[in-house]
Amino acid sequence: MKALVYQAPGQKALEERPIPEIAAPTDAIVKIVKTTICGTDLHILKGDVATCVAPRILGHEGVGVVAKVGPGVTTFRPGDRVLISCISACGRCAYCRRGMYSHCMTGGWILGNTIDGTQAEYVRIPHADTSLYPVPDGADEDALVMLSDILPTGFECGVLNGKVEPGSTIAIVGAGPIGLAALLTAQFYSPAEIIVIDPDENRLQVAKRFGATATVPAAGDKAAQSVVAMTGGRGVDTAIEAVGVPASFITCEDIVAPGGTIANIGVHGAKVDLHLERLWAQNITITTRLVDTVTTPMLMKTVQSRKLDPTKLITHRFPLDRILDAYDTFARAASTRALKVVIEA
Ligand SMILES: [Zn+2]
Ligand SMILES: [Zn+2]
Repeated sequence: MKALVYQAPGQKALEERPIPEIAAPTDAIVKIVKTTICGTDLHILKGDVATCVAPRILGHEGVGVVAKVGPGVTTFRPGDRVLISCISACGRCAYCRRGMYSHCMTGGWILGNTIDGTQAEYVRIPHADTSLYPVPDGADEDALVMLSDILPTGFECGVLNGKVEPGSTIAIVGAGPIGLAALLTAQFYSPAEIIVIDPDENRLQVAKRFGATATVPAAGDKAAQSVVAMTGGRGVDTAIEAVGVPASFITCEDIVAPGGTIANIGVHGAKVDLHLERLWAQNITITTRLVDTVTTPMLMKTVQSRKLDPTKLITHRFPLDRILDAYDTFARAASTRALKVVIEA
């Protein structure tokens, strides 16, 4: 089968690989129908993700059809259409029993990280019963690909951890796919103001179309000054970090109002200064989280009922044999205006 393989930092290739086999009774083999590329895949390719050891088939998002199941799989049968969660969960370990699937002791974020992922014709899914979701009849499978990772991530790590409330003021630092997913799902709670900060004018226009009440076309100190000015000197109740670099986290420190929350989503590869000399008396909360995908069934209902339309995040489509072009388009987002690229296997 064809598969996109991370070979070494800075190196990837579309390779011919054997179709994966059932390795444990609870495994399923899924034939990929659609997958996509995540910002995290670019982090891996830079060599920023120490857990991902080359050679590795990348990808942790997708929709497919069950091809084979191990004897321990009871929920799915060959031929079933399934949504693949970016988080694999055994459902039984101490973390899973607390709903913290991201830290499952034999799962978590393993796809396209510590085991081969979804950017291929087939993928092996461990703990299939508790890591796959049935695709509802008539569902828009493009929309569902956005449910593998980015929507639950934006919602759980940004909106829920950020305690977005009706009437509150929030800022989202970074208008990439994850920041936009936070923007879309924050509106479940009717915040009064949603300020989106990004240096890319195109992404800010997209953010406005997706419901931002104001945009700030800057980064760093200037962005923080603008947000503070826009909020009458107070700052925001929720500052969502959706980039993963020190400057954007510091922007959040600079704009959070007393009593507010900084909700980190970004994948950080470098240390960040925490200005406790300013924040110690401000009653703020800082949260971090790896997505647990506990909200995937709820998000699927909002997509099915058309309360949420994640297909607006899709800007490009490629067949699997052109996945290198897809990576190039996704990596040069400033010039290609790419948000999510759908890859059809
Ligand atoms: Zn991802
Ligand atoms: Zn577990």
